Amino acid sequence: MDKKLYIHNTLSRTKELFETSHPEVGLYCCGPTVYNFAHIGNLRTYIFEDILKRVLLSLGYKVRHVVNITDVGHLTSDADTGDDKMEMGAKREGKTVWEIAEFYTEKFMENISDLNILDADIWPKATDHISEMIGLVKKIEDNGLAYRTEDGIYFDTVKFPTYCDFAKLDPESLRAGSRVPIGEKKNPTDFALWKFSPKDVKRQMEWDSPWGVGFPGWHIECSAMSLKYLPQPVDIHCGGIDHVRIHHTNEIAQVEAATGKQYVRYWIHGEFLVMDKGKMAKSGGGFITLDTLKERKIDPLAYRLFCFTAHYRSPLNFSWESIENAENSLKNLRSLVAKETAGIKGDAVKKGVDRMLEPFWSAVYDDLNMPQAMAAVWDILHSSEFSPEEKRSAIEEADTILGLALFSGEPQKHVVDSGAEVEFKVRVISPEEISGELADKIINLANERCKSREAKDFVKADTLRDELKTLRVEIRDLPDGITECELD
Ligand code: AMP
Ligand code: ZN
Repeated sequence: MDKKLYIHNTLSRTKELFETSHPEVGLYCCGPTVYNFAHIGNLRTYIFEDILKRVLLSLGYKVRHVVNITDVGHLTSDADTGDDKMEMGAKREGKTVWEIAEFYTEKFMENISDLNILDADIWPKATDHISEMIGLVKKIEDNGLAYRTEDGIYFDTVKFPTYCDFAKLDPESLRAGSRVPIGEKKNPTDFALWKFSPKDVKRQMEWDSPWGVGFPGWHIECSAMSLKYLPQPVDIHCGGIDHVRIHHTNEIAQVEAATGKQYVRYWIHGEFLVMDKGKMAKSGGGFITLDTLKERKIDPLAYRLFCFTAHYRSPLNFSWESIENAENSLKNLRSLVAKETAGIKGDAVKKGVDRMLEPFWSAVYDDLNMPQAMAAVWDILHSSEFSPEEKRSAIEEADTILGLALFSGEPQKHVVDSGAEVEFKVRVISPEEISGELADKIINLANERCKSREAKDFVKADTLRDELKTLRVEIRDLPDGITECELD
């Protein structure tokens, strides 16, 4: 099979063949603003990005993966007004901004590890890169695309003629037609590159700059950090769909205005996790975190599997019922893997594996189609065409993408207890659902054998044991007086 990745690029709004001339794929993912827990919507985005990274690795690419930590400058309003989310978090919890950042960064890292998301190579913090951000703003200013207002340095979007292209914005409605008060900004779409500290309030986080004491705009953070760690053009830049319109549009404008070169080759965006037809948002208050799921005894990897029930470019609706289904589905999947590959260890044969995995790889290489990839995994497990060794190899390979720890399950056992039906206590265990008739037959034979043993008729007891063997039943007399019959 010819392995190539086709991926939807927001730049062209089409699926494109992924190619790079860099020795390592540069992958930049917009990271968390650490003023609160990540909600499971945010985590959906990191899961899709993790699949993308695993798929690139499976193609033999080296990947340089950068995820920023936004610990300053993300304001409550996209119009560059309102409070800094970090300062708000600090006020809410009576802690310093630095304490808030450290606490929620650690919590985020726990989520990443619980969800089996591969660690990024670099986790740059915005507060460690202020000089790089100032450097980038200076270049924009030198190129004549920045201007000063009372409260900061702004990007003049009218001077960047392709500003509206990426998000397909309508220039007319954004500019002339806007009724939103824009203060001293020249155009509604202009955005802050550097904000001055307010005169009446002492901020906890502020830095000196050529323009005055203040803090960076949120968009300049990602641009400065991505350019510091990855070669331009950056191969891939990802994030949630909400970022197309403002955050990523602004990132393109400022980087291309500063450098005169294309910023990013492939922009990849994930759709939202929604609840009751609305998006899940941190500002909405009652959002659901991974800890909430864990408190309800839901395996974080069941949430990962749940995310595979929709394509990353389709909205996914969360409900308690659907996450419980995913939990059961994960248990069944692991149990089936354990049953179908029981007793088979490592280094298995390669014979039928490639053919078996073809539908799986076709799905993942076709714009990360995980619902289809999961269907291919179930098909492999249910197929009678392949040996347990081949199945084991195939599932191990598929799990390098899925990351579901598929070999950590026990085969699910179905148990029937004899109850008061017979003289001796008999328990029948089977990997499959046992029909009443078969269970009755086994219970009766085992009961007869117990009776023979009690009567010291060992010849008859052995004959009965052999008869059970012909039914593929292994019999064991347990110390607590129960006779256990296991069907293989
Ligand atoms: P934030 O921590 O708010 O900066 O967001 C982190 C990432 O989560 C960004 O890529 C957002 O686009 C993404 N995101 C925010 N809300 C959702 C949601 N409901 N579903 C999926 N992704 C989201
Ligand atoms: Zn970003």
